[in-house]
Amino acid sequence: MILLHDPRPGHGWAGESLPPGLADLVAAVFGPGILDGHLPAFGTRAAWGGEALEETDFLTNPLGGGLLLDRNRFDAAARAAALAAGVRLAEGRAGTISGAEGSWRLALADGAEIAARFVIDSTGRPAAVARQLGAGRAAADRQVAIVAAFADAGDAFRGTSIEAVEQGWWYTTPLPGGRRVLAFLTDADLWQARTRDWAVLLGETRHMARCAGPAALAANPRVSPAETASARLLHGPGWLAAGDAAMTFDPLSSQGIAAAVLMGSRAGAAVADALRDGSAPDLAPWAEDYRTLGAETMDLRTYYARLERRWPDAPFWARRAAQRKA
Ligand SMILES: Cc1cc2nc3c(=O)[nH]c(=O)nc-3n(C[C@H](O)[C@H](O)[C@H](O)COP(=O)(O)OP(=O)(O)OC[C@H]3O[C@@H](n4cnc5c(N)ncnc54)[C@H](O)[C@@H]3O)c2cc1C
Repeated sequence: MILLHDPRPGHGWAGESLPPGLADLVAAVFGPGILDGHLPAFGTRAAWGGEALEETDFLTNPLGGGLLLDRNRFDAAARAAALAAGVRLAEGRAGTISGAEGSWRLALADGAEIAARFVIDSTGRPAAVARQLGAGRAAADRQVAIVAAFADAGDAFRGTSIEAVEQGWWYTTPLPGGRRVLAFLTDADLWQARTRDWAVLLGETRHMARCAGPAALAANPRVSPAETASARLLHGPGWLAAGDAAMTFDPLSSQGIAAAVLMGSRAGAAVADALRDGSAPDLAPWAEDYRTLGAETMDLRTYYARLERRWPDAPFWARRAAQRKA
């Protein structure tokens, strides 16, 4: 089994967290110690559906605490766990795929080529291989995240803080290593139509500027895609997509990493078993469960949008309150 890894820096910090209950599931896939070195999260705070910033303490959560992730550290530990399990690491960037089930040829950007019987695309939102194989993509929105990371001089709360505003919502999260992320989520058309002055937008918030601290104002944010979307086909003969290549969830759900790990490992195990027996994996039940997870997360997003009633006519909220399916 070959793991193709592009060693160039990835998409950078989104300030990802694992909500209560998910760390054990991730550790069950990779083994104990996979999540060592991350910051425990003690709760969340949200100004959502009202102006007060209300705190939910994980102490009262039967699933325990959450984790604020150092994403580079997590990815490196996951690669190390794969190598320890006997996977071979190849470095490079996937380019054109040719061939068919049982005899794929994947050209790499540096001119090398990998031969494979089965291909799992986990290249994230670009779905670089699955798109070539006809996976297609359907998006439920055109959400973007305007994200900045900076040295943390914010308040002492150890968890994610969220604030809904008329055009979207903000979050800020302290990160391991004394860093902090601040992000504004909105729709691409709304982002284009209004001021894109970060300091002005931050100044309009009631809580975020204070929670994130003074360094936030001078930070240099960049715009990243954050839409909820899904491949039209999650698998085909000799290939499948997993993680963001298969399906992206609204960042509000904090489900992306755990879904990628759990659905990816389940598909990987099915493929490995089938290749050992020389049969084709039956991925239909896996794909159905993936679609169910996507639909449930969309329902949850609609539920949260309907909780926010302060701007019923604002496009960001009206679009989400009306929408039930990706
Ligand atoms: C603003 C924001 C906040 C989020 N917050 C959370 C959160 O709190 N909790 C959570 O669980 N999730 C969160 N998510 C979602 C989470 O980031 C993703 O679900 C997760 O990163 C998916 O992992 P992945 O491995 O599938 O894709 P990615 O993390 O995108 O990794 C894809 C990898 O493939 C590589 N790659 C791309 N193209 C090629 C190619 N052609 N050849 C070789 N390699 C390639 C990339 O370099 C990268 O290393 C958030 C997302 C956003 C946008």
